[in-house]
Amino acid sequence: MDEDNKPRFPQLPKLPKRLEPNIIAKGWSLTKSLMRYAVEGFPNVSEQIFEARMLTCNACEFLKKEESTCGVCGCAIEYKGRMETESCPKNKW
Ligand code: SF4
Repeated sequence: MDEDNKPRFPQLPKLPKRLEPNIIAKGWSLTKSLMRYAVEGFPNVSEQIFEARMLTCNACEFLKKEESTCGVCGCAIEYKGRMETESCPKNKW
C-alpha cells in the first residue's frame, strides 16, 4: 500500500513491439507466394507499376530500410514488388 492507500504493483518491463513475422511465418508466406506466382505462370508487373510500388514502399513506415524488407510480411520488397500476384499487406498497392 502507498500513502493514498492504493495498492502498488511492480511495473513489468515493456516488451518490444513485434512487427515482423517469425521465421516460420515468413517461410510459409514465401512458399504460398511462390506457389501463387508459379501457378499463374510467373507474371511480372510493368516497370512503371514496379517503380510506383517501390516509391510507395520507400515512403512506408513499415519498411525495414537496412534490409529492404517489409516489416509486416517480411518479404524482400524488390522481389515482391515485381510479382503481379503479390499485393501490399497494408493495401498500399
Ligand atoms: S509492402 Fe506495403 S506495408 Fe510493406 S513496406 Fe511496402 S508499402 Fe509498406
